[in-house]
Amino acid sequence: MKTVTTPQALRQARAEMTGRVAFVPTMGNLHEGHLSLVRRARSLGDQVVVSIFVNPMQFDRADDLAAYPRTLEEDTRLLEAEGVELLFAPDAAAIYPESLETHTRVEVPVISEGLCGAARPGHFTGVATIVCKLFNLVQPHLAVFGKKDYQQLLVIRKMVADLAIPVEIHGEPTVREADGLAMSSRNNYLSAEERQRAPALYQTLQQTAERLRAGAGEFDALEAEGRARLEAAGLRPDYYEIRRAEDLARPGANDRHLVILAAAFLGRARLIDNLEVDRAPA
Ligand code: AMP
Repeated sequence: MKTVTTPQALRQARAEMTGRVAFVPTMGNLHEGHLSLVRRARSLGDQVVVSIFVNPMQFDRADDLAAYPRTLEEDTRLLEAEGVELLFAPDAAAIYPESLETHTRVEVPVISEGLCGAARPGHFTGVATIVCKLFNLVQPHLAVFGKKDYQQLLVIRKMVADLAIPVEIHGEPTVREADGLAMSSRNNYLSAEERQRAPALYQTLQQTAERLRAGAGEFDALEAEGRARLEAAGLRPDYYEIRRAEDLARPGANDRHLVILAAAFLGRARLIDNLEVDRAPA
């Protein structure tokens, strides 16, 4: 695996690649969730490019950015073992050479609002901007993202459609620990005692999904019940919402394909998860 850290070196390495290029953007501190995307990329493309960049533009809090785990050496080892061809691991100065404040921004309205967009102002503008820039640098044929960050996946799909960016987007299922907790770099923030309580997030989503599958349509009541369950388990819910899976609009009585999205604080960590569900016809 070749590692490059500047846009110039990346362009040079890219120019030497042939066949279909599959790209996996990450912020590093890689776990099995990331590696499942890398394996999917490997099966879809001839060459795999991974980026590791902790993007300051998508962090709304300086302390969160500073605390984000950086483990480039171990990540490099894991990507080598997956047979990745090229790793792009720039620092912030390589991506934002003038300044973050004067850099062009890509805004994806409506779908970026609410849910994580409401809780983290400017977050999805930061995500859309860096993904757009990485697409222009890497020029992949396709890119692979996790459904773990469901709203993010839809923001990127919308950006790619609206700006006619010629990159095929693939969304992959969430990889979980044995007890159901979605894998995340932020799980490292949990104490042993908090880690025991964390699976309540996924369990609650499953309970709501079960009710929806059985045909329940009282969305407000189901959301309130979900929040109450999280509180009872010692988590502090940020949001718990049932939305249309396709576009995150609030569902109507006839919508069948839904997604339940949740974010909750547990100690220092803010955990997010979601579950797609098909409601039984009335
Ligand atoms: P991050 O490094 O957190 O920015 O994530 C990089 C990519 O990995 C994104 O597309 C995430 O959605 C995806 N990802 C993170 N955690 C998981 C997981 N547990 N399962 C599947 N994909 C994941």
